[in-house]
Amino acid sequence: MMPDHGELLYEGKAKRIYAVTNPDQVLVEFKNDATAFNAQKKAQLADKGRLNCQISARLFELLETAGIPSHYVGLAGETWMLVKRVEIIPLEVVLRNIATGSLCRQTPIAEGTPISPALFDLYFKDDALADPLLTEARVRLLGVADESQLSAIEQLARRVNAALSPFFEGIGLQLVDFKLELGITSSGELLLADEISPDTCRLWDLNSTDAKDRILDKDRFRKDLGGVMEAYGEVLKRVQASTSNPRNCM
Ligand code: UDP
Repeated sequence: MMPDHGELLYEGKAKRIYAVTNPDQVLVEFKNDATAFNAQKKAQLADKGRLNCQISARLFELLETAGIPSHYVGLAGETWMLVKRVEIIPLEVVLRNIATGSLCRQTPIAEGTPISPALFDLYFKDDALADPLLTEARVRLLGVADESQLSAIEQLARRVNAALSPFFEGIGLQLVDFKLELGITSSGELLLADEISPDTCRLWDLNSTDAKDRILDKDRFRKDLGGVMEAYGEVLKRVQASTSNPRNCM
């Protein structure tokens, strides 16, 4: 079911953003398109939009309970989410609890090494430049965030990790690493934005010891492991079992 919406404001790789009557809100439609390696690899994955939308809604509500502010207002259908309108800060904020992925390709740190406190990495959100890794000095030079915003972003990211890591552990999943995006409202409030889902988190099944079987996130797509939607479905099933139904606002 499609909620009433205004004009299409923006279409990204995984979502479409539509205007609504309230100028301080927008509707997000989660698409079934999957992309990896800066969109060099593409596929349609039936049901991905619904799974990511439903998982994200529940995680945003969980974070809200922990006092962590996000753009989330409520669900507006199976693949639709009503959110506060924000201006996205062009940073991809990554927290890493376990070394894998690009960290292990770019450094000699061994795959699976625990990292405590979590490593806070910043990337420039720019497809044309393939989202390069930034230093804090480069963030300041680019003017994408000032000193105080940067420290607020790090604090928020660490609070998300402190809330989500034990939650996932409680449902038998290890939060290996994740990516956040942040936005600023017209009144200047810093909010979590985008989504929190198996597209943006690495989640390993604590009940499995097999290095491939335990992967329940987008790495199944990146590495052609198969069973991508079954993995996302398993994540939603576990998240559903330990959160209440998300609110519907349409
Ligand atoms: N990530 C993401 N979007 C990106 C790049 C990374 O959501 O454009 C997430 C990814 O799913 C993982 C974390 O950020 O949970 C760290 O990814 P990494 O830097 O290891 O990238 P990769 O190995 O995928 O190149």
